[in-house]
Amino acid sequence: MMPTELERNISEVDRRIRAAEQASGRATGAVSLLAVSKTKPSELVREAHRLGLSAFGENYAQEMAEKAAALADLPLCWHFIGPIQSNKTALIAEVSDWVHGIDRLKVARRLSEQRPDHKEPLNVLVQVNTSNEDSKSGVMPEAAPELMASINELPGLRLRGLMTIPAPANSQAAQREPFRQLRELMLRLSDAVPQLDTLSMGMSGDLEAAVTEGATIVRVGTDIFGARYNQARL
Ligand SMILES: *Cc1c(COP(=O)(O)O)cnc(C)c1O
Repeated sequence: MMPTELERNISEVDRRIRAAEQASGRATGAVSLLAVSKTKPSELVREAHRLGLSAFGENYAQEMAEKAAALADLPLCWHFIGPIQSNKTALIAEVSDWVHGIDRLKVARRLSEQRPDHKEPLNVLVQVNTSNEDSKSGVMPEAAPELMASINELPGLRLRGLMTIPAPANSQAAQREPFRQLRELMLRLSDAVPQLDTLSMGMSGDLEAAVTEGATIVRVGTDIFGARYNQARL
């Protein structure tokens, strides 16, 4: 049978990740692929799971909850990667296995309080602004240690590492700079928070740069599921 477009896309992204691991001397399999399924229908997620993927990223709480319910028969891991509105924390705490974009203690406290008792603590990443732009979300690097120390005290959360969404850059050298910063920041924080093991960085256009600088999760949407014509919720 001819491979489908989705099948070809997944193997190409997988090939790129493995090639970047190898080129930068990292172990094969050191980087895991988070398939960003936002705006895409749950049947496509089901197909991606059949083709071997199990971790999916969403950036609207309601959309994630709907897909998680539609696919409850599958052993999927849901990562919330969008901006977190305070009135959505209960839903996020209930449905997600991971949350990538934490940049305020208030939101972290709510997620911890609202995490259901019967579930494992929620894995969380602190989002860092590595581009020095006022418009971007994320905590500034110098404020990260204090926020991390406070989050590390919260019983409903398990602090795992850092994530960033840098401003677009047009050379691989320029793409690597914010990723290098994030890796070095995590290294400095590891004395105070030894369990940190996750760097979520790199998307369709810059995953090679991110893998070279130590990403452990790359978040890939377009190059797996195709372009998103409409960013609105399903
Ligand atoms: C949409 C999104 C991605 C995926 O981006 P692509 O360029 O489509 O691969 C990754 N991370 C976050 C936080 C996103 O919102």
